[in-house]
Amino acid sequence: MSQDIKPAKVLYPNTPWTERSVPGVHVPNEQETFKSTFTEPTVECPECHSLTTHTAMSFNAYVCPQCDEHLRMKARERLNWFFDQVDHELGQRFVGNDPLKFVDSKPYSERMLDAQNKTGETEALVVFQGVLKGISMTACAFEFDFMGGSMGTVVGDRFVEAAESAIQKKQPLICFAASGGARMQEGVLSLMQMARTSAAIEKLKAARLPYIVVLTHPVYGGVTASLAMLGDIHLAEPKAMIGFAGKRVIEQTVREKLDEPFQRAEYLLDHGVIDQIVHRHSLRDTVYRLVSKLMNKN
Ligand SMILES: [Zn+2]
Repeated sequence: MSQDIKPAKVLYPNTPWTERSVPGVHVPNEQETFKSTFTEPTVECPECHSLTTHTAMSFNAYVCPQCDEHLRMKARERLNWFFDQVDHELGQRFVGNDPLKFVDSKPYSERMLDAQNKTGETEALVVFQGVLKGISMTACAFEFDFMGGSMGTVVGDRFVEAAESAIQKKQPLICFAASGGARMQEGVLSLMQMARTSAAIEKLKAARLPYIVVLTHPVYGGVTASLAMLGDIHLAEPKAMIGFAGKRVIEQTVREKLDEPFQRAEYLLDHGVIDQIVHRHSLRDTVYRLVSKLMNKN
């Protein structure tokens, strides 16, 4: 009987278990193991292509922990990050409409619906009132993923309400700009928002309340030509592209080849267009310091 019992076959003599392979069982290679360690969605940095979990990225205010690239922040997330305490949201009663019944390759109403489903927002501007380090403020942020953060009538309505409410409550207004410009589907009505928002800012200045603009990547067109360049102070995030027309359009107009960085925040700072470039991690402190100085809070 004892002769029938064979010693167990040693399949992998002297091989550490991590290096053993069993026929029919796929052992993940290094790359696959790396991917499988992430059990939650990851964000890929467009600059260095490193992967970071969504939670880690959100915790780091969407600044790449590897290369310091400032990734785009969603408007609502940015305002929640900016304020220590959010009191309420303004302008929600203004919702997207289609005043011209505009149709290009697709009806405007359909494009609007797509943008709403994609972003979860009803329009391209979100306005919050809240408290930053003990100072009550009104702040608005453009949602770039909503039709390129373009400014139509509703964005104008919401911005004007933000400014008027700031005046009424004697609060400073902070604007996080990120926009492709005026919304062409609303034609001249969207261009009129440039004048409306400029007038609202003028009222804010008459009330001697600070209006601070934070230019985030990218800001172009009618938004640059109005509310984004009328601040008392213009801050920008590193490497943000800021301009009126894009590089290609200018090159076609002036028939000249232009240097690559001429619309970057760093170039604009050197040429006196903006006041300061602020790392996102210092932005809350910087805005707080500026507002407390301008409003003689300390
Ligand atoms: Zn990176």
